This record gives sequence, structure tokens and C-alpha cells, in this order.
Amino acid sequence: MLKLDEILKGVKRAGIAGHVRPDGDCTGSCLALYQYLRMYYPEVSTDVYLEEIPNSFHMLTGADEIRHELPEDTGYDVFFALDCGDTKRLGFAGTLFEQAKKTVCIDHHVSNLAFADVNQIVPDASSTSELIYDLLEKERITKEIAEALYLGIVHDTGVFQYSCTKPSTMEAAAELLRKGIDGPKIIEKTFYEKTYAQNQVLGKALLESIRLMDGKVIFSYITKKSMNFFGVKAKDLEGIVSQLRVTTGVEAAIFLYELESGEFKVSLRSKEKVDVSKVAQYFGGGGHVRAAGLTFRGTVHDAVNNIVGQVALQLEEEA
Ligand code: AMP
Ligand code: MN
Ligand code: MN
Repeated sequence: MLKLDEILKGVKRAGIAGHVRPDGDCTGSCLALYQYLRMYYPEVSTDVYLEEIPNSFHMLTGADEIRHELPEDTGYDVFFALDCGDTKRLGFAGTLFEQAKKTVCIDHHVSNLAFADVNQIVPDASSTSELIYDLLEKERITKEIAEALYLGIVHDTGVFQYSCTKPSTMEAAAELLRKGIDGPKIIEKTFYEKTYAQNQVLGKALLESIRLMDGKVIFSYITKKSMNFFGVKAKDLEGIVSQLRVTTGVEAAIFLYELESGEFKVSLRSKEKVDVSKVAQYFGGGGHVRAAGLTFRGTVHDAVNNIVGQVALQLEEEA
């Protein structure tokens, strides 16, 4: 088990970063650790780096202090990579990780390569936020830190729904609620609430979805042109793949959106039979058994054919 006191001994500068296109868990775990270090290790100068976060996450304390660009002095004594399986997925902050004197990785991706000097990787954990909760001294968790951790756990468990939700997850959530946070508000505002444009894009993706393999696989995609038309960004498309997944009879859901011409971000979700992390890893991506992702270069047609091919292999094995 990691000990913050040991990691931070003699440390003057600490940096924290999560994966590209930050989600709730990544943002929540980074901001929780950031606040904790700022509060209880005032002798350490701590910075947090993330790409732009969804608007609704700005309710979290410290969100406005997130740095989106590299600093002049890139040498950190210790650098934490959270909710991230490899250096590449740290995006622009990867440089800081590589140049740090000491590196720490805290994560729950099965595909994690244990790429830091110190690694705390628990594939069974619901979320990195739950791992950060375990790391912190309970009585030192403030209401603001609890909000960040709760948001992270809520997002990675699909509001305590997915199979990664363990008794320990509920115990952590209960303890966080005892800190006086407004749990329902965090869930409503950051998980369920969508802008009108987001709902329109969701509607389009559902309307144009196609089912394959007797309805066991469902697929849909959104082009850059549509995103521009509706005025939405990549971070606004979260949740579409989950809605595809809940379709009756579906074992695996595949959702694509265009990053740039000829390059797609692919999100994979499954119910019970398909290990989508295996499929994602086959194409150079990663993730979890029930939720994974990858970047695909080629046409939509190639993407569907190839990815569905890998899903089919698993479904045939199962049959
Ligand atoms: P997403 O579909 O982006 O919501 O991602 C689902 C899960 O897979 C998350 O835990 C991501 O961190 C992980 N993931 C997504 N894309 C990649 C990728 N290209 N490489 C590794 N892991 C990924
Ligand atoms: Mn994540
Ligand atoms: Mn996570």
C-alpha cells in the first residue's frame, strides 16, 4: 500500500495529471489528490494538469486551477499519473511525467502497463477515485475533497450500477456522504443532465444506429460535420455508448466519433459476454472488461468490419 508521507518526503514540487479527454473519474481523482496535497502538504508546491474538462465538472473545488499548458520549469520531484494506463494517454502532460525525478501511477485499468516507478494498480477497483479514497486519511477528507471523489465513483460505476461496484465502493460512498456533500446534486448535474444539443446528438446517434449479429451488436457514429452542426465537442458525447448498450438483446455496443479526417475515437461497452478490453487492446487501445476504448485510423466501414470481427470471435467462442 502506498504511503503519501513516504512519497512526498523531501519533495518540493509535485505534479498530478490524468488521461486525455478527462472523464469524471479522472477529473475527480486528480482534483481530490490536488486539494489534499495543497491542504496537508503546504511545503510542497503542487500543480494539476488536465485537458479541458466538461462544463458541469467546474462545480468541483480546484477545477479553475487546472493547468492546460506546460509550465516553463518542467522538472517535478514527483509526478502522479491517475486513471491512466500508459504515458501516451497522459497527452501533453506526458512530458512532465517523463522528466520527473520520481513517478507514481494509481489506476484501475486491466490494460495498465505499470509504467511508473511506483505503481498502485487495482483492476478490480471501481474507480481511481476509490483508490485515492483508500490512500487518504479518512478524517482529513474535507467536504470539497469528498465531492470530487464521489463524482469520480459515480461516473465510473454508472451511478453504482456496473458490476465494478463492490461493497467497498458503497462503503466509500457512504463515508463521503457523511462529509455533508449533496450526492443527488452531483449525480443530477454531472451525470444525467445534458444540454439540448447533447440530447439532439444522442437522438441522432440512436436513430441512425444499426444492429448486427442478430441484434447482439449495436453500432453508431457521429461525424465531425454533425458535431459542428450541433455545436458539440467530443466531451459532450459521453453517455451515447451507454444508451446504445442498454438496448434489449445487445451484448456489445460500439460508438465512433471522428477526431479528424480518417481518425476515429471508438468507445466499446458490453453486458455480460464480451471482454471489450481485449478487443480494444487488439487495436492498440485499452480499458476495462465492460468499458474500453481505442483510436482507429481508416474509414468507418473498416472500423466496423474489423471491430465487429473481434467481437464476433468472442461471441462465437461463447456460443
Ligand atoms: P471511453 O469509451 O473513452 O469512455 O473509455 C472507456 C474506458 O476505456 C475508460 O476507462 C478509458 O480510460 C479507457 N480507454 C478509452 N480509450 C482508450 C485508449 N485509446 N487506450 C487505452 N484506454 C482507453
Ligand atoms: Mn477514466
Ligand atoms: Mn477510471
